[in-house]
Amino acid sequence: MTILDGKALSEELVDSVKDKAEKLSPTLAVILVGENPASMAYVRNKKKACERAGIEYIQHDFEATITQEDLLKKIDDINQDPNVNGLIVQLPLPDHIYVPDVIRSVDPSKDVDGFHAYNIGKMFLSPEFEDLPPATPLGIVKLLDHYDIPIRGKEVVVVGHSNIVGKPISMMMLNRDATVTTCHIHTKDLSAHTKRADILIVAVGKINLITADMVKDGVVVVDVGMNRNDDGKLCGDVDFENVSKKASYITPVPGGVGPMTVAALILNTVRATERQKASQ
Ligand code: NAD
Repeated sequence: MTILDGKALSEELVDSVKDKAEKLSPTLAVILVGENPASMAYVRNKKKACERAGIEYIQHDFEATITQEDLLKKIDDINQDPNVNGLIVQLPLPDHIYVPDVIRSVDPSKDVDGFHAYNIGKMFLSPEFEDLPPATPLGIVKLLDHYDIPIRGKEVVVVGHSNIVGKPISMMMLNRDATVTTCHIHTKDLSAHTKRADILIVAVGKINLITADMVKDGVVVVDVGMNRNDDGKLCGDVDFENVSKKASYITPVPGGVGPMTVAALILNTVRATERQKASQ
């Protein structure tokens, strides 16, 4: 069994764009609303990765009481600013703000999270049009590619159908000629599907949802889940201790998909900058 070391690969990928970043001088703006501790930790990691890559990082902090109108105005200002190449609005947002309006308001060419319908729609067409794919799915694909794990013709089972992970990773696996099954809360017999998986990607947010009896020998397991157990320890959706005994490859939590998501944001920021400068 091999551990898919997202932390090490993430550092390698961030280092690999340093030369390009030096030439392009990209700038990433991050909007943080409120003081959600998990969000504050995520943006700290993004800032660190930008510093490592040589990308300028600008953070805009707002009170949780900011109105949607004021937030959209700030996003528009950043959209118009030619010195900013990438824009992330850290989710979740307070309940009074309608997230689809926020996602829609980000300039698609600066949407390095890859959440805008324009970028999602392009991704639907073919791998060549995955210009700014959602960061977590991009990180997963980079991780599988790095370990030379074949995707074409494989049975890929995705558990979770969110717009930011489950649906786009399903599409990216289909773009790479896998046979894809996407499961979710209404799937009738989850283990009937997971047992068939050559590659199992789990993005749900439930500790120990996937147990050893639900997977076949030799499965490749990608655990996207980020949960806190009763001791406050970070853990995924997969019973790592027992599933890892049957898996050929498995991601740890922490140190698997999390850092790869940050690396993918860095890759998307450099890509967005390249595309903006090429069209000037
Ligand atoms: P979400 O919270 O929007 O949706 C959860 C999904 O799980 C839904 O599709 C739902 O139908 C499905 N689901 C719920 N219970 C289920 C069950 N019992 N059986 C099968 N499916 C079930 O999803 P999300 O935003 O993609 O987040 C999922 C998890 O991934 C969370 O733990 C989140 O913190 C984590 N996450 C991690 C990263 C990272 O970088 N590592 C990035 C994004 C999300």
